[in-house]
Amino acid sequence: MELPEIEKLSNQMDLMLSEKEITSISFNGDKFLNLSTDEFANRIKLQTIVKVFYRGKIVIITLTNDELIIISTGMGADVLYFDAVDRIKPGKANINLLLKDGSGFTIRFWWFGKFHLIKSLEFAELKFAPDPFSKIFTYNYLRTKIRESNTTVKAFLLNQKIISGIGNMYVHDILFKAQLHPQKKLNALTEKDIENLYFSVKFVLESARKKGAFQYDLDFFGQHGEFTINDFAVGYKEGLPCPECENIIIKIKTGSNSGYICPNCQTL
Ligand SMILES: [Zn+2]
Repeated sequence: MELPEIEKLSNQMDLMLSEKEITSISFNGDKFLNLSTDEFANRIKLQTIVKVFYRGKIVIITLTNDELIIISTGMGADVLYFDAVDRIKPGKANINLLLKDGSGFTIRFWWFGKFHLIKSLEFAELKFAPDPFSKIFTYNYLRTKIRESNTTVKAFLLNQKIISGIGNMYVHDILFKAQLHPQKKLNALTEKDIENLYFSVKFVLESARKKGAFQYDLDFFGQHGEFTINDFAVGYKEGLPCPECENIIIKIKTGSNSGYICPNCQTL
Protein backbone atom coordinates (compact mmCIF):
# COMPACT_ATOMS: atom_id res chain seq x y z
CA MET A 1 0.00 0.00 0.00
CA GLU A 2 1.19 3.45 -0.86
CA LEU A 3 -0.14 6.89 0.03
CA PRO A 4 -3.51 6.80 -1.86
CA GLU A 5 -4.39 3.40 -0.37
CA ILE A 6 -3.32 4.30 3.17
CA GLU A 7 -5.12 7.64 3.11
CA LYS A 8 -8.36 6.01 1.97
CA LEU A 9 -8.13 3.24 4.55
CA SER A 10 -7.39 5.58 7.42
CA ASN A 11 -10.27 7.92 6.47
CA GLN A 12 -12.70 5.01 6.37
CA MET A 13 -11.42 3.65 9.67
CA ASP A 14 -11.78 7.07 11.28
CA LEU A 15 -15.37 7.31 10.06
CA MET A 16 -16.38 3.88 11.35
CA LEU A 17 -14.34 3.53 14.56
CA SER A 18 -14.15 6.96 16.20
CA GLU A 19 -15.80 7.26 19.59
CA LYS A 20 -16.41 3.53 19.85
CA GLU A 21 -15.35 1.46 22.85
CA ILE A 22 -13.16 -1.60 22.46
CA THR A 23 -14.64 -4.74 24.03
CA SER A 24 -11.99 -7.30 23.20
CA ILE A 25 -9.20 -8.26 20.86
CA SER A 26 -7.90 -11.66 19.86
CA PHE A 27 -4.76 -12.64 17.99
CA ASN A 28 -3.69 -15.38 15.67
CA GLY A 29 0.10 -15.20 15.92
CA ASP A 30 2.10 -12.53 17.73
CA LYS A 31 5.19 -11.67 15.69
CA PHE A 32 3.53 -8.42 14.53
CA LEU A 33 3.05 -7.29 18.18
CA ASN A 34 5.46 -5.35 20.39
CA LEU A 35 3.84 -6.69 23.58
CA SER A 36 2.59 -10.09 24.73
CA THR A 37 -0.94 -10.86 23.54
CA ASP A 38 -2.25 -10.64 27.12
CA GLU A 39 -0.65 -7.32 27.89
CA PHE A 40 -1.83 -5.85 24.59
CA ALA A 41 -5.41 -7.02 25.17
CA ASN A 42 -5.48 -5.76 28.76
CA ARG A 43 -4.12 -2.33 27.90
CA ILE A 44 -6.64 -1.57 25.16
CA LYS A 45 -9.70 -3.23 26.68
CA LEU A 46 -12.52 -0.78 27.52
CA GLN A 47 -10.61 2.08 25.92
CA THR A 48 -12.45 4.29 23.47
CA ILE A 49 -11.03 5.06 20.04
CA VAL A 50 -10.53 8.81 19.71
CA LYS A 51 -9.60 9.00 16.05
CA VAL A 52 -7.74 7.28 13.23
CA PHE A 53 -5.24 9.04 10.99
CA TYR A 54 -2.11 8.25 9.00
CA ARG A 55 1.50 9.34 8.78
CA GLY A 56 3.33 8.12 5.71
CA LYS A 57 2.46 4.46 5.27
CA ILE A 58 1.38 4.00 8.89
CA VAL A 59 -2.19 4.02 10.20
CA ILE A 60 -2.55 5.31 13.76
CA ILE A 61 -5.44 4.73 16.16
CA THR A 62 -5.49 6.99 19.22
CA LEU A 63 -7.11 5.80 22.43
CA THR A 64 -8.55 7.64 25.44
CA ASN A 65 -5.78 6.30 27.72
CA ASP A 66 -3.22 8.34 25.76
CA GLU A 67 -1.85 5.28 23.99
CA LEU A 68 -1.77 4.68 20.26
CA ILE A 69 -2.07 1.60 18.09
CA ILE A 70 0.28 1.77 15.13
CA ILE A 71 -0.50 -0.37 12.09
CA SER A 72 2.09 -0.96 9.41
CA THR A 73 0.71 -3.06 6.56
CA GLY A 74 4.18 -4.18 5.42
CA MET A 75 3.93 -5.78 1.98
CA GLY A 76 0.15 -5.52 2.15
CA ALA A 77 -2.72 -6.42 4.44
CA ASP A 78 -6.48 -6.86 4.46
CA VAL A 79 -7.88 -4.53 7.09
CA LEU A 80 -11.62 -5.20 7.03
CA TYR A 81 -14.58 -3.75 8.87
CA PHE A 82 -17.53 -5.83 10.01
CA ASP A 83 -20.77 -4.55 11.47
CA ALA A 84 -22.92 -6.11 14.18
CA VAL A 85 -25.33 -7.69 11.69
CA ASP A 86 -23.07 -8.76 8.87
CA ARG A 87 -20.20 -10.24 10.86
CA ILE A 88 -17.23 -11.27 8.77
CA LYS A 89 -15.86 -14.52 10.12
CA PRO A 90 -12.34 -13.91 11.44
CA GLY A 91 -11.10 -16.80 9.26
CA LYS A 92 -7.35 -16.53 8.92
CA ALA A 93 -7.18 -13.02 10.30
CA ASN A 94 -4.21 -12.22 12.53
CA ILE A 95 -6.17 -9.70 14.55
CA ASN A 96 -9.85 -9.53 15.44
CA LEU A 97 -10.92 -6.40 17.32
CA LEU A 98 -14.45 -6.20 18.65
CA LEU A 99 -16.26 -3.00 19.64
CA LYS A 100 -19.05 -2.53 22.16
CA ASP A 101 -21.72 -1.96 19.47
CA GLY A 102 -20.95 -5.36 17.92
CA SER A 103 -18.93 -4.01 15.02
CA GLY A 104 -15.17 -4.25 14.68
CA PHE A 105 -12.40 -5.11 12.28
CA THR A 106 -10.00 -7.86 11.32
CA ILE A 107 -6.46 -7.64 9.95
CA ARG A 108 -4.69 -10.26 7.90
CA PHE A 109 -1.10 -9.43 7.00
CA TRP A 110 -0.02 -10.78 3.59
CA TRP A 111 3.58 -11.22 4.55
CA PHE A 112 4.67 -9.21 7.54
CA GLY A 113 3.35 -6.16 9.30
CA LYS A 114 3.22 -4.39 12.61
CA PHE A 115 0.49 -3.87 15.17
CA HIS A 116 2.11 -2.00 18.03
CA LEU A 117 0.79 -0.26 21.11
CA ILE A 118 2.84 2.73 22.19
CA LYS A 119 2.47 5.68 24.52
CA SER A 120 1.92 9.16 23.13
CA LEU A 121 5.36 10.24 24.35
CA GLU A 122 7.00 7.50 22.29
CA PHE A 123 4.90 8.49 19.30
CA ALA A 124 6.03 12.09 19.62
CA GLU A 125 9.60 10.89 19.17
CA LEU A 126 8.86 9.22 15.84
CA LYS A 127 9.73 11.44 12.92
CA PHE A 128 7.58 11.32 9.82
CA ALA A 129 8.59 13.03 6.61
CA PRO A 130 5.93 15.08 4.76
CA ASP A 131 3.71 13.12 2.39
CA PRO A 132 2.72 14.56 -0.99
CA PHE A 133 -0.91 15.11 0.08
CA SER A 134 0.13 17.30 3.01
CA LYS A 135 0.47 21.08 2.87
CA ILE A 136 4.06 20.92 4.09
CA PHE A 137 5.13 19.02 0.99
CA THR A 138 5.91 22.17 -0.98
CA TYR A 139 8.00 22.75 -4.06
CA ASN A 140 10.59 24.48 -1.87
CA TYR A 141 10.72 21.51 0.48
CA LEU A 142 11.38 19.13 -2.41
CA ARG A 143 13.94 21.43 -4.01
CA THR A 144 15.85 21.93 -0.75
CA LYS A 145 15.96 18.18 -0.06
CA ILE A 146 17.13 17.42 -3.59
CA ARG A 147 19.92 19.98 -3.33
CA GLU A 148 21.01 18.52 0.03
CA SER A 149 21.11 14.92 -1.21
CA ASN A 150 23.48 13.02 -3.43
CA THR A 151 21.78 9.88 -4.69
CA THR A 152 19.68 8.75 -7.65
CA VAL A 153 16.28 10.32 -8.19
CA LYS A 154 14.46 7.01 -7.66
CA ALA A 155 16.26 6.19 -4.38
CA PHE A 156 15.46 9.73 -3.26
CA LEU A 157 11.72 9.39 -3.98
CA LEU A 158 11.53 6.07 -2.11
CA ASN A 159 13.41 7.35 0.95
CA GLN A 160 10.67 7.50 3.62
CA LYS A 161 12.82 9.81 5.76
CA ILE A 162 12.49 12.50 3.06
CA ILE A 163 9.07 11.86 1.49
CA SER A 164 6.47 9.59 3.08
CA GLY A 165 4.18 7.33 1.12
CA ILE A 166 5.79 6.63 -2.26
CA GLY A 167 6.65 2.99 -2.94
CA ASN A 168 7.90 0.95 -5.88
CA MET A 169 4.55 1.06 -7.68
CA TYR A 170 3.57 4.66 -8.41
CA VAL A 171 7.23 5.69 -8.68
CA HIS A 172 7.56 4.39 -12.27
CA ASP A 173 4.93 6.77 -13.61
CA ILE A 174 6.14 9.64 -11.43
CA LEU A 175 9.58 9.37 -13.06
CA PHE A 176 8.12 8.90 -16.53
CA LYS A 177 5.84 11.92 -16.22
CA ALA A 178 8.83 13.99 -15.12
CA GLN A 179 10.83 12.50 -18.04
CA LEU A 180 13.58 11.38 -15.66
CA HIS A 181 15.61 8.17 -15.75
CA PRO A 182 15.37 6.44 -12.31
CA GLN A 183 19.15 6.33 -12.00
CA LYS A 184 19.75 9.95 -12.81
CA LYS A 185 21.83 11.62 -10.09
CA LEU A 186 20.17 14.44 -8.19
CA ASN A 187 23.02 16.84 -8.86
CA ALA A 188 22.31 16.47 -12.60
CA LEU A 189 18.75 17.75 -12.21
CA THR A 190 17.98 21.19 -13.60
CA GLU A 191 15.56 23.61 -11.94
CA LYS A 192 13.03 22.65 -14.61
CA ASP A 193 13.51 18.94 -13.81
CA ILE A 194 12.75 19.60 -10.14
CA GLU A 195 9.64 21.57 -11.05
CA ASN A 196 8.47 18.74 -13.31
CA LEU A 197 9.18 16.18 -10.61
CA TYR A 198 7.18 18.10 -8.02
CA PHE A 199 4.13 18.24 -10.28
CA SER A 200 4.54 14.59 -11.35
CA VAL A 201 4.56 13.37 -7.75
CA LYS A 202 1.37 15.29 -7.05
CA PHE A 203 -0.28 14.37 -10.36
CA VAL A 204 0.32 10.61 -10.23
CA LEU A 205 -0.70 10.19 -6.59
CA GLU A 206 -3.75 12.46 -7.04
CA SER A 207 -4.84 10.41 -10.07
CA ALA A 208 -4.79 7.24 -7.97
CA ARG A 209 -6.53 9.04 -5.10
CA LYS A 210 -9.34 10.22 -7.41
CA LYS A 211 -9.89 6.67 -8.65
CA GLY A 212 -10.17 5.35 -5.10
CA ALA A 213 -6.67 3.79 -4.95
CA PHE A 214 -5.18 0.68 -6.52
CA GLN A 215 -7.28 -2.28 -7.66
CA TYR A 216 -5.36 -5.03 -5.84
CA ASP A 217 -5.79 -3.45 -2.42
CA LEU A 218 -9.05 -3.83 -0.53
CA ASP A 219 -10.39 -0.88 1.39
CA PHE A 220 -11.95 -1.08 4.88
CA PHE A 221 -15.25 -2.24 3.36
CA GLY A 222 -13.65 -4.94 1.24
CA GLN A 223 -13.96 -2.95 -2.00
CA HIS A 224 -11.27 -2.77 -4.64
CA GLY A 225 -9.91 0.57 -5.85
CA GLU A 226 -10.55 1.64 -9.42
CA PHE A 227 -7.01 2.58 -10.35
CA THR A 228 -6.03 -0.38 -12.53
CA ILE A 229 -2.89 -1.61 -14.26
CA ASN A 230 -4.29 0.06 -17.42
CA ASP A 231 -4.07 3.44 -15.70
CA PHE A 232 -0.28 3.27 -15.49
CA ALA A 233 1.59 5.08 -18.27
CA VAL A 234 4.73 2.92 -18.18
CA GLY A 235 4.54 1.00 -14.87
CA TYR A 236 4.15 -2.76 -15.54
CA LYS A 237 3.86 -2.02 -19.29
CA GLU A 238 7.03 -3.80 -20.44
CA GLY A 239 6.91 -4.49 -24.21
CA LEU A 240 4.10 -2.00 -24.85
CA PRO A 241 4.49 1.33 -26.67
CA CYS A 242 5.26 4.52 -24.73
CA PRO A 243 2.16 6.76 -24.61
CA GLU A 244 4.32 9.77 -25.55
CA CYS A 245 6.63 8.52 -28.31
CA GLU A 246 5.63 4.90 -29.06
CA ASN A 247 9.09 3.49 -28.29
CA ILE A 248 8.87 0.16 -26.49
CA ILE A 249 8.77 0.34 -22.69
CA ILE A 250 11.46 -1.71 -20.99
CA LYS A 251 12.04 -3.14 -17.52
CA ILE A 252 15.39 -2.34 -15.95
CA LYS A 253 17.20 -3.15 -12.71
CA THR A 254 17.32 -0.16 -10.37
CA GLY A 255 19.41 -1.18 -7.38
CA SER A 256 17.55 -3.87 -5.45
CA ASN A 257 14.28 -3.44 -7.36
CA SER A 258 13.00 -3.02 -10.93
CA GLY A 259 11.88 -0.03 -12.92
CA TYR A 260 9.77 0.47 -16.03
CA ILE A 261 10.91 3.21 -18.37
CA CYS A 262 10.66 4.52 -21.90
CA PRO A 263 14.32 4.49 -22.99
CA ASN A 264 13.60 7.34 -25.37
CA CYS A 265 11.77 9.71 -22.99
CA GLN A 266 13.90 8.88 -19.91
CA THR A 267 17.60 9.06 -20.70
CA LEU A 268 20.57 9.10 -18.36
ZN1 LIG B 1 8.65 7.63 -24.78
